Amino acid sequence: MATVVFLHAHPDDEAIATGGTMASLAARGHRVVLVTATDGGLGEVPDGLLAPGETLAGRRAAELAQACTVLGVARQVFLGYTDSGMADEPTNARPGCFAAADLDEAARRLAGLLDEEGAHVLVTYDEHGGYGHPDHVQVHAVGMRAAELAGTEVVYLATMDRGVMRALRDRADELGVDGGPGDADPDQFDTLGEPSERITTEVDVTPFLAAKRAGMAAHASQIGPDSFFLAVPDELFAELWGREWYVRIRPAPDGLGDGRRERDLLVSGPGGSPIRRSPVGPAADR
Ligand SMILES: [Zn+2]
Repeated sequence: MATVVFLHAHPDDEAIATGGTMASLAARGHRVVLVTATDGGLGEVPDGLLAPGETLAGRRAAELAQACTVLGVARQVFLGYTDSGMADEPTNARPGCFAAADLDEAARRLAGLLDEEGAHVLVTYDEHGGYGHPDHVQVHAVGMRAAELAGTEVVYLATMDRGVMRALRDRADELGVDGGPGDADPDQFDTLGEPSERITTEVDVTPFLAAKRAGMAAHASQIGPDSFFLAVPDELFAELWGREWYVRIRPAPDGLGDGRRERDLLVSGPGGSPIRRSPVGPAADR
């Protein structure tokens, strides 16, 4: 059994980006630990959602607990920072927010948990946090530094396959997806995720889509039933959300990339003993 720690920026990122991988690992008996950097307190709030006196952070903690249950997360920990808001907002510099956190201090908090858990694998984000949100960029920096401090053997960057995202954008009208990739600024796709050639690891999560969907739906304050995330039939949901992508940093991904991808995060077990050598093959047809 391996212990896999996922570092995410806000409540809901875990379900959207890696929910299927988490459910798959948990179903195979591995220990899945989620570290959530911020409380998500600056998310958008639909009018009338919160009861008098209720905070968004409080609501999101409850939603996250529900998501963890359906995704098979054995333990969830908040790293203790507040949400920084979107890029270039003045909230990015507020004391206590994650984007402005001291890198070493934040990394020490995470490294302490990696030690305590005997974590074999850490999953953090790519260098630009997938799409540039300051908290997501900080997840990368903190994750990398913490893995160094704790000596974590296996490190992955969760990301998106830019080629797949572009293809979905081009087919958005045909797919009938409103408010999703088709409505985005086309230039955004030039910086979204990572180029297909850099992806080393593609996890087919279609057997776990019910859990992933339920995990996303648990974050009702952020992902409404009418959002493009959820308001699609099962078949389209599988096409949009059935794969999760990673870049392996450690151990060095020799022979991976440029279309050759492993299919699982568990390349080797604690101490280097193999858990299961995941098959390596060409990227799935897209
Ligand atoms: Zn986020």
